Amino acid sequence: VKNYNSGQSVKEAAENYLREIRELAAVPYTVMEVCGTHTVAIAKNALRDLLPPQIRLVSGPGCPVCVTDGSDIDQFLYLAAQPNVITATFGDMIRVPGSKKSLQMLRGEGADIRIVYSTLDALDLARKNPDKEVVFLGVGFETTVPTVSVSIEQAQKEGIGNYSVLSMHKLVPPVLRALAEDEETEVDGFLDPGHACAIIGSEALAFMAEDYGMPGVVTGFEALDILEGLAMLLRQRAQGRSEIEIQYHKIVKPEGNPVAQALIHKIFEPVDAAFRGLGIIPQGGLGIRKEYEDWDAARKFDLPEFESIEIPGCRCGNVLKGQIAPTECPLFARKCTPLSPVGPCMVSSEGSCAAYYRYTQRS
Ligand code: SF4
Repeated sequence: VKNYNSGQSVKEAAENYLREIRELAAVPYTVMEVCGTHTVAIAKNALRDLLPPQIRLVSGPGCPVCVTDGSDIDQFLYLAAQPNVITATFGDMIRVPGSKKSLQMLRGEGADIRIVYSTLDALDLARKNPDKEVVFLGVGFETTVPTVSVSIEQAQKEGIGNYSVLSMHKLVPPVLRALAEDEETEVDGFLDPGHACAIIGSEALAFMAEDYGMPGVVTGFEALDILEGLAMLLRQRAQGRSEIEIQYHKIVKPEGNPVAQALIHKIFEPVDAAFRGLGIIPQGGLGIRKEYEDWDAARKFDLPEFESIEIPGCRCGNVLKGQIAPTECPLFARKCTPLSPVGPCMVSSEGSCAAYYRYTQRS
């Protein structure tokens, strides 16, 4: 494996990767970056401008806020509006629009909604407010789930009964399988998510290459990592290989992190889950096991089911499947901006539309 990093400046290494990419990019090749952090890094470093025109980079469904379905958003908004409930959430969720409102709007109407930086902050809220129900909004892929598991374990250990989690967690392998089986997906290879694969391991994605002939490289988040990941994908094509390789060796192992995996599986189990733009994906999400139902907000509260209503004009679903670039949405930078977002892909800091707006509107 060529590695330009040793003994070279970043500039020299980047030039070498770019030269190799140009040499290997004889015919068109579409690469999907699965993770929102990749989307931001690609936009921030203007990598699209450096690549030959044959290489097309499209964004995928790796931004957890963006793939949270409208029906789930309306459900947690309903819960957040209940008296006696404190909703604890990461900051990205606060402005995500449901069919009528957002958490921010509810907060303006008097709902008790707190931004937390970890699940243990949310648990602390429950300790300090024993007369209230504290609900943590569990949104994220495998990367964030172990800390949610720890908070539930700790709540059980301390007998904290007024803490619960509304699990809307998602799993990377099923969503990639859904993409591979979607006839409208036109992707030749994937930059696979470094953070999620640190937990699940690259072997968890081997089926993509074996069953669907779609290679992938688990890639880090520096510009140089991404260029190397692209070069590795193109080498596979040049050599007639289809494998899941690791570029991000310092963090990712083929088998992943067994301790984190055990934490996830102790508290959670796979369930069918609704994804924005992709519909219901079998076993695509995580629900809380019955043994921990006392900390499962979905069982604890009588939550109505909501329909999945599309936001009028928003094409987030197509963006999340790599079918269009954010700039192809008619509302992009007109009616929809980070200050006045229409859809979640413009709200989240990892959303494709927000990344395009922030880094391409200036150039
Ligand atoms: Fe949705 Fe706005 Fe993105 Fe268009 S630009 S797809 S309206 S988030």
